This record gives sequence, C-alpha cells and structure tokens, in this order.
Amino acid sequence: MEGRSRLSLRSTVDELLVVDHHCHGVLRRDVDRADFESMLTEGDRRGPLSPTLFDSQIGYALRRWCAPVLDLEPRTAPEEYLQRRAELGHAEVTRRFLRAAGTGTYLVDTGFVPEPLLGPAELAEAVGGESHEIVRLEQVAEQVVAGGVDASRFAEDVRERLADRTATAVGVKSIAAYRAGLDLPSEQPADSEVAVAAGRWLADVEAGAGPRCNDRLLHSFLVWTGIELGKPVQFHVGLGDSDADLRRANPLLLTPLLRATQSRGVPIMLLHNYPFHRYAGYLAQVFSHVFVDLGLATHNLGRASGRVIGELLELTPFGKVLFSSDAFGLPELYHLGTLLFRRGLTGVLLEGVLDGSWTEPDAERIAGMILAGNAIRAYGLDSACPSSADRR
Ligand SMILES: [Zn+2]
Repeated sequence: MEGRSRLSLRSTVDELLVVDHHCHGVLRRDVDRADFESMLTEGDRRGPLSPTLFDSQIGYALRRWCAPVLDLEPRTAPEEYLQRRAELGHAEVTRRFLRAAGTGTYLVDTGFVPEPLLGPAELAEAVGGESHEIVRLEQVAEQVVAGGVDASRFAEDVRERLADRTATAVGVKSIAAYRAGLDLPSEQPADSEVAVAAGRWLADVEAGAGPRCNDRLLHSFLVWTGIELGKPVQFHVGLGDSDADLRRANPLLLTPLLRATQSRGVPIMLLHNYPFHRYAGYLAQVFSHVFVDLGLATHNLGRASGRVIGELLELTPFGKVLFSSDAFGLPELYHLGTLLFRRGLTGVLLEGVLDGSWTEPDAERIAGMILAGNAIRAYGLDSACPSSADRR
C-alpha cells in the first residue's frame, strides 16, 4: 500500500505541467567553469577565499539530477560534467533542461537583462508552452527619469508608461528589498509627495548619480500604481545577492502596506522568502491577498529543500502557495528548481497520506493547486491576454 501510494503520487506530481510564476531568461552563450560557478548561486565567486560551489547542496544536486539529462551517470565529476556541457553546446543544453523541467507556463521578469538572454517567447517556444511578462516597476520609473522629466510630471508619466508596458503583461514586480528596503509607507502617496521625492532623485541624477530608484516613498508609489492597474504585485523578499540587505528584506516589514492594500483585492506575491518563509506563510494566512513561494531557495538548498517546503506548508493555506524557480542564466536551474520542488512537495504530501491526515486524491489535488492552479487563479491566466509566444 505504502509503495503504491508513493509511486502513484510521485508520478502524478512529476507529470503535472507547472506554472513557473517567477523566472528570468537563459544565457545565449557557452560558459567556462568560473562563469558557470558564479551563476550557480548569487554569491560572489571572486578571489582565493571562495571555495568551489560543487562542494555545496546545489553542487551535489546538480551532479545528481542534471548529469543524466546530459547522458552522464548521476554524480559525475564536475570536470566531466562541464566538458560534456561544452561538447553539446549551449543551445542543445538549454533545449534539454527546459524540456526536462516540465514547465507549461512561464511568467518572466524582464527587468534584469545584464546581457542578451532568451526572452519569454523563446522560453515558451522551447517547451511548446506559454509565457507572459512581469514588468519591473523600478525599471519603468528609471526609464522615465532617464528620458528626462519634470518632477511635477513624474507621477503622471510613470502611470502612463506603466499602463502602456503592462497592457500585455500579467503582473508587476518591486525590488524595493534591493534598494530602500521593505519598510515602505503604507498609504498611497499623493502626487505632491511624489513630486517632492522625484525632485530629490532628479537633483541627484543632475549631480551625476545614475538613474537608480532608491526611495521609500517612490517604491510605495510604484506599488500603488501597479495595484491601481489591477496587476498582481510581486515583491522580492529574503535571500538574493550581496546587493540585498537581508535585514531590510524581511516580509514582516511589509505588514502595514499589506494591511492598507488588502481591501483592493489585488494579489501580492512574496517571492523567495527564505529564511523568512515561516513569516511569509503567516502573512499569507492572515491577509487574503498574499501568496508565497520558495523560488531560488529550492535549488540552492538541494536535498535540504524538502524540509523547507514542509516548513512553508506548516501555516500557509495550500491555496496560497505558488511555484517558482527564479531561474536565471543557466538552464540547469529551471530543471533543478522544478525537480526539487516536485520531490519535496511529494515528500510532504506523502507523509500526510501515510499517516491518514489526507487521502491520496486530496494530495494530488493540493499538488495541482500549488504547481499550477493557484497561479492560474491569482494571475487570471485563464483569461490573460495572448501569451508572448502568440504575439511574436
Ligand atoms: Zn528573480
């Protein structure tokens, strides 16, 4: 009985086409070992004090689960893995990992493109699936500033440009956690306040600073502008690269803003969340419009990710959990993020089946919600504008 449950639930979860509600693009080039390791995590790999990342959870997860996709034995040595990768070339490697991930729909954050990447349409085409864009709020504000604007016109110009940019997008994203932090003013700022803050920013740019949005009031204004457009708002929360100050990326700092926005009924998506995933789960329980995921953490945690998925599911209502890979650059990360999440979720759900907490059909239904159904409902993907792939 136990064996049958295990096999049946695992194959059901493995075959579900997932909605990856937060990811980026894939590199269009081959990489050497240094590049490869630096892109495995968001850590800085420079200098002699930086040990190889193959000796970490993600390094071992990569060798265990990615090697077979390149026709290698599991646990192949790093050198052999990288050699095989180079032989196949980036296009074939990308094709294999995107297919292996089993993603049906990508929601792609197009706001971070340090070099040319495969975009939403190409990701969708690689798997015969769909894709939709998520527009980065701060990028839109920075484009308005870079284009030259008067402080008194800033709010209106941002509203117009954002409405235009999101006409075919299904959501927006705030990276306030990377800038001024998540302790944002909760009330919707008046245009006069926005003009004062924009004036300070424009003066800095005039004095030679880059057009980098980094102001609590302006981040709040951007979030409210997204809400006014009815677009679900994603927030970067928790771990990221060394630019993120983790002390200011705690989701509890968003509590006043969540309280102030709840009555609007526009979903707020807390991304990543680790190591604050239990706090995020609490917010998803108490606020009707808050959803959570474990993107980025899942593949970074490797074999430890199942435990953390269990922790996220301690308090979070199952209808409030979304799946994301937060994959960027390396196609391996789409596969690893998806595979480890499927495995971890299956493990948590199976424990409940085996101790009689829920039935196997319950477990299958919950898996379907978390891997796809919750995102389809929260982003309105059933009725969303045509996918990027269709718009080419
Ligand atoms: Zn991301």
